[in-house]
Amino acid sequence: MLKTETQEQKDERYMRLALKEAEAAFEEGEIPIGAVIVSHDRVVARAHNQSETLHDVTAHAEMLAITAAADALGGKYLPDCTLYVTVEPCVMCAGALGWAQLGRIVYGAEEEKRGYRKYAPDALHPKAAVTSGVLQDECKALMIEFFKNKR
Ligand SMILES: [Zn+2]
Repeated sequence: MLKTETQEQKDERYMRLALKEAEAAFEEGEIPIGAVIVSHDRVVARAHNQSETLHDVTAHAEMLAITAAADALGGKYLPDCTLYVTVEPCVMCAGALGWAQLGRIVYGAEEEKRGYRKYAPDALHPKAAVTSGVLQDECKALMIEFFKNKR
């Protein structure tokens, strides 16, 4: 019999998948941010930042994941979904998460400069639950590594 997984363990397990996506972004020369969306313990979308590849400043991991999840589930609202993203969403993504009515957002590293909390702390859906700091060291390390190579 499977041991019951705590919410914390579950969050770490899904964040690892998001980290895998972030690593894929890194390999592609993209800012290494990855996201997955989970619905009733099923991964319905996984995506990573593709701004360079798609020549599109809106191609953030969260935006691509929202579109993919809505497509997979056949509905534009995602109240029963949890988004896992390696870095705190920006204002644009937080707005999109609000429009999509994402039920829960879990992020890893904080983003002091461009994170939504500084500019638009109320952008998410009012009912959305937020958990931060899941595997934050690993999420952050990937970003630091990326920008170190850029210099
Ligand atoms: Zn964003």
